[in-house]
Amino acid sequence: MTDQYTLQDPTKMFADIDTKAQYQEGAGLDANLDDTADRGEKSYRGTGRLTGRKALITGGDSGIGAAVAIAYAREGADVAISYLPEEETDAKRVVELIEAEGRTAVAIPGDIVDAAFCRDLVAQAVDGLGGLDILVNNAGKQQFRETLDEISDEQFDETFKTNVYAMFWITKAALPHLGAGSTIINTSSIQGYSPSEMLVDYATTKASINAFSKALAQQLAPKGIRVNVVAPGPIWTPLQTAGGQPPEKLPDVGEQTPLGRWGQPAELAPAYVFLASPESSYVIGETLNVNGGMPTP
Ligand code: NAD
Ligand code: MG
Repeated sequence: MTDQYTLQDPTKMFADIDTKAQYQEGAGLDANLDDTADRGEKSYRGTGRLTGRKALITGGDSGIGAAVAIAYAREGADVAISYLPEEETDAKRVVELIEAEGRTAVAIPGDIVDAAFCRDLVAQAVDGLGGLDILVNNAGKQQFRETLDEISDEQFDETFKTNVYAMFWITKAALPHLGAGSTIINTSSIQGYSPSEMLVDYATTKASINAFSKALAQQLAPKGIRVNVVAPGPIWTPLQTAGGQPPEKLPDVGEQTPLGRWGQPAELAPAYVFLASPESSYVIGETLNVNGGMPTP
């Protein structure tokens, strides 16, 4: 079987996935992508690197979060995922995949722009998992707008609430439950360093996530809690087809990378596994870029 340890030419991988122009209303579903993203269902092979760990992954229903949920379960962790109620179809599939590994899955629908829900989400995860020692802040909102004028106050507010405030609320609520050895992984983006003209609000939140993480990492290191960041490049997920990019640009987006193609969610999972597991014990406040080769500071 081809797994993530099999030698492959990275320029030729996933050539069968057609990233053509398409559009989805609302949050977007993996189930509705014309050509499904690869989340590692058929390829990710666990080696016990997260045995007995308890993880909460926001936005674990689809895209990168789903790939991380599948990988964590195969590495031996119990996993809680949060998602929007309209994403139940995707969430059910991920729950089945976690349970297929013999691990506990906890599914928690709700809207993270609400601070009270964020606190309740952590409480439900702790309750369902019997504790918590990995937090992955991955949920995010990205809506392209050609001009600043087209970014409504509501959009600006929602993008910040989803990408930045929710990370603050969820992390704050989780901290009392996290003991030494626990790990927090936040999801930034290439946009945090190399912002696109059409993603002004989104790119600003992603730079904020980097700064938040590097500050908090120093604060929590003496307690034995490590904070790190993963910064993806262009990854084929529902977010991109639900207004993240202009639909007609979708076929070309990945071509800007030195590898010349989109990344797949499955290619992100190993970065989140590494930063969650004790093998990264001396890695703190780091941003691991998984972006097909685009230079970053
Ligand atoms: P995705 O749509 O599959 O996942 C995003 C998830 O965020 C959704 O599944 C949804 O459950 C959750 N979410 C959004 N708004 C929410 C809300 N108000 N309440 C609760 N949950 C909410 O897309 P993805 O690309 O896998 O995104 C995951 C993360 O990766 C995001 O933070 C995104 O910004 C980041 N990222 C993605 C790319 C990319 O090219 N796809 C690049 C860089 C960074
Ligand atoms: Mg989703």
